[in-house]
Amino acid sequence: MTSEEGFVTTTTASTTADAGALDLPLVPHWISGAATNGSSDRAADVYDPATGKRTKTVALASPQDVDAAVAAAKAAFPAWRDTSLARRTTILFKFRQLLDERKGELAEIITSEHGKVVSDALGEVSRGQEVVELACGINHLVKGAFTENASTKIDVYSIRQPLGVVSIISPFNFPAMVPMWFFPVAIAAGNTVVLKPSEKDPSAANFIARLWKDAGLPDGVFNVLHGDKVAVDGLLTHPDVASVSFVGSTPIAKYVYETGTAHGKRVQALGGAKNHMLVLPDADLDLAADAAVNAGFGSAGERCMAVSALVAVDSVADELIAKIKERVATLRTGDGRRGCDMGPLVTGAHRDKVTGYVDAGVTEGAELVIDGREVVPDAQDDEAAADGFWLGPTLFDKVGTDMSIYTDEIFGPVLSVVRVESYAEGLDLINANKYGNGVAIFTNDGGAARKFRNEVQVGMIGINVPVPVPVAYFSFGGWKQSLFGDTHAHGVEGVHFFTRGKVVTERWLDPSHGGLNLGFPQND
Ligand code: NAD
Repeated sequence: MTSEEGFVTTTTASTTADAGALDLPLVPHWISGAATNGSSDRAADVYDPATGKRTKTVALASPQDVDAAVAAAKAAFPAWRDTSLARRTTILFKFRQLLDERKGELAEIITSEHGKVVSDALGEVSRGQEVVELACGINHLVKGAFTENASTKIDVYSIRQPLGVVSIISPFNFPAMVPMWFFPVAIAAGNTVVLKPSEKDPSAANFIARLWKDAGLPDGVFNVLHGDKVAVDGLLTHPDVASVSFVGSTPIAKYVYETGTAHGKRVQALGGAKNHMLVLPDADLDLAADAAVNAGFGSAGERCMAVSALVAVDSVADELIAKIKERVATLRTGDGRRGCDMGPLVTGAHRDKVTGYVDAGVTEGAELVIDGREVVPDAQDDEAAADGFWLGPTLFDKVGTDMSIYTDEIFGPVLSVVRVESYAEGLDLINANKYGNGVAIFTNDGGAARKFRNEVQVGMIGINVPVPVPVAYFSFGGWKQSLFGDTHAHGVEGVHFFTRGKVVTERWLDPSHGGLNLGFPQND
C-alpha cells in the first residue's frame, strides 16, 4: 500500500492514539473518490495480530466527517440512479475483474490486520466476489412485472427504484466479505453508499474503494467513513441516510435497529451467534470430527457461523472427542503468512477476553480436554511469539448449559462439547438458545435430517455441512437474537432491501372510455 494509491497517508500529527503511534501511517477516509484525513483529531491504533505491534492508526470520524461523506453520496445519487443498467453493469463487471486480479493483495492486507491465515482471507474475498457476480445480473433482479388489460384498456406494471444514500456498518471478522454482502447489490440497484468498516481492520475497505474508482465508478457513489460510535450514531440519525445494513454483536445490532428505525430508516441488523452442531449416533464420525475442527477453529473461531457448541449424543461422544483430539494435534497455530492452519486473535484485549472464558470454563467445572493457553505459535521470531495475540485450539467436554462458555458468544477457538441422550434433547437445547444464526446436523439418516430441518428454529442449516453460509443468490441471515429486522443479506431479499417498489396503473386516451363514473371501475 502506498500513499499515492490513497490507502494510507502519513500525516498523523494530531491523532489521540498514544504518543508512540504518532509516526505510524494513518488510514484515511475515502470520500468523493479521494483519500481524506477528515476534520477529527481522533484516531485508533491498528495492530498486526501476529506480532502484537501497532502498524497504523485509523482516522475516527467527527460528526462533520459524517456530514461530508453523506453529502458526497447524496450529490452522486441523482446521476447514478439515472445511469442505465447497461452502464452500471459494465462498471460492475470491471470491478469484478479487478477484484479477481488483485484478490491476493487484498487477502494479504486482511491477514496483516485481522490475523486470519492468507488462504482463509482469500476464501473470504471469493465469497464476497460471489455477491459481485450476483449484482452483475441486476438487470434481471430489478425487472418488474407487466399486466396488460388488467381492467378494460388499463395496464398495470411494477418497477423497483433505489433508496438513495445507504449505509453499511461492518464488523472486524470479515473486513472484505461482509461489506460485499451489501454494497454490490446496493450500487448495482442505483444507490450510493457510505461504508463504515470496523476500526480494527480498516484498510481492506480503502483498497476496495480504489478498485471501484479504477473500475470507473463515479466519485461519491462509494465512500468509506472510518470511525467508532460517533460515526455510527451520525449515520443512524442523519436525515439523508435512507437505510442501514449492520453486522456485528447482538447488543450493538439491537441498538442500531432501534435507533435507525426510530429515525425512519430501513434497517437490517445482523447480530451475534452461538452455532450448534448436532452429531447423531449414526453419523460418519470421521466426517463429523473433520467438520467440528474446521468449523470450530477456522479463522480462530472468529466467524459468525463458527461452530462453538458440539452437541453429541452420549453414545458416540467419547469416540468423537478422541477423533477431534487426534486432528487438533496436527494443527499449526501461528502467523497467517507462514502457511499455518490457524492465526492469532484480532487484538490483545479480545485474546484476553477469550482466555478469560477458558479460565471460567475450568472454574465452572467443565472438563478441559485441550488447553489452547499452552500454545507454542509458529511466529516470525521470539518477540512475535511472545507479543502476538495467540490462543491455540481449546476443547471442553461435559459442558453444562448454565456455564458461561455455553451461554455466551465467545468468538474464539473454544469448542464446547455438550452431551445429550437423544435427538429430541439436542433439538430442545438448540431451540432454547437465544441465538439462531447457523446450525448443523451430522447423520446418515435422511429422515432424521429432514425432521431436524423442519423443527429447528435457526435461519441457516447445514446437513453434513458445518458452516452453511448460503451462496450469493440465496439470502444470508439468522433468526431470534441473530437478526433484527426482517430482511436477510444478498439474494432476492438483498435486492428488495435496496429498492422500493412502485406500481403504475395506466390508461391511454381512448374516446370510448370517456364519461363520468364516480364508482370503482367495473369490467365490461
Ligand atoms: P461489534 O458489534 O463490536 O462492532 C460492529 C460494528 O459496530 C463496528 O463497525 C463497530 O465500530 C461498531 N460499534 C461497536 N461498538 C459500537 C457502539 N457502542 N455504538 C455504535 N457502534 C458500535 O462487533 P465486532 O466485534 O466487530 O464483530 C464480531 C461480532 O459480529 C460477533 O458478535 C459476530 O457474531 C458478529 N457477526 C455477525 C454476523 C452475522 O451475519 N450475523 C457476521 C459477522 C459477524
